[in-house]
Amino acid sequence: MRIDLHTHTDRSDGTTSPTELVRNARAAGIDVLGLTDHDTTEGWAEAAQAAEREAVRLVRGIEVSCRYAGAGVHLLAYLPDPDHPDLVAELERVLDGRNARLPATLERLSALGIEVEVDEVRALAGDAAAMGRPHVADALVAQGVVRDRAEAFDRFLGPQGPAYVNRYAADLVAMVGTVAAAGGVSVIAHPWARRHRHDALDADGLAALAAAGLAGVEVDHQDHDPATRERLRGLARELDLVMTGASDYHGTGKVDHELGCNTTDPAELERLLSLAAEASQAAGRVVPEVVGG
Ligand code: AMP
Ligand code: ZN
Ligand code: FE
Ligand code: FE
Repeated sequence: MRIDLHTHTDRSDGTTSPTELVRNARAAGIDVLGLTDHDTTEGWAEAAQAAEREAVRLVRGIEVSCRYAGAGVHLLAYLPDPDHPDLVAELERVLDGRNARLPATLERLSALGIEVEVDEVRALAGDAAAMGRPHVADALVAQGVVRDRAEAFDRFLGPQGPAYVNRYAADLVAMVGTVAAAGGVSVIAHPWARRHRHDALDADGLAALAAAGLAGVEVDHQDHDPATRERLRGLARELDLVMTGASDYHGTGKVDHELGCNTTDPAELERLLSLAAEASQAAGRVVPEVVGG
């Protein structure tokens, strides 16, 4: 059984529709697929229909933009009630922050002599509910300023780049609580990724999060080297956290993140799903279905 629990569609910054994502997952031999667009559940319904047709089990999730000790951190929320008022309100704040950042980013680019219009980015973002730097990167590619998204992040949009603008993100510990209140489970995404600040969420930070209700940690991710994966595995065992592995697939938007390039052990998925069932019972909600398959 092949399980890939972290993927994106064009409802955020992936390049495939939810239907294409599920088809690609089927073709890649994925049996259980986690859909985790940034800050939105917009792709869930279409992906669920495709999952029924393609006989792929779909675990519906969100990769929520969070902040911890001043650093940006991503939290994978699996199977929360998408209509829970606190969750909805917080995702709206994050999406508003994304929209507010765009003009500021374009002003920075303009100061560098690169003129990009808001409408250009919006057109490239198409169906995306969560517009972000990758779509600005696409505009730079379209203008021939850079070759690909990676170069746009390296030269302009990354945290040290001249066009970087901060935006609102949810408080990480509070969001773990919100996800639980919505009957879902939280897994910290790529906590020690190369491009993130490792000192923000160190071993003590992960222990504090585990105490606050974190269910799991994404260990096998392309941004973790083998030594990092080993250290995270040890820590997850110590803290009794579920260990996941995933591709963080973005279609053609991110190289070296092919579907199934990292996978989750079936026993770990079962643990995660039983924690989700407990969370939804505690939240007084019907246990959410993993659809398809
Ligand atoms: P934003 O959500 O607007 O803050 O943009 C951050 C997102 O851009 C990340 O979650 C990644 O999905 C994507 N990203 C970051 N670095 C790169 C890169 N070098 N190449 C392609 N996509 C990237
Ligand atoms: Zn992304
Ligand atoms: Fe991420
Ligand atoms: Fe991601």
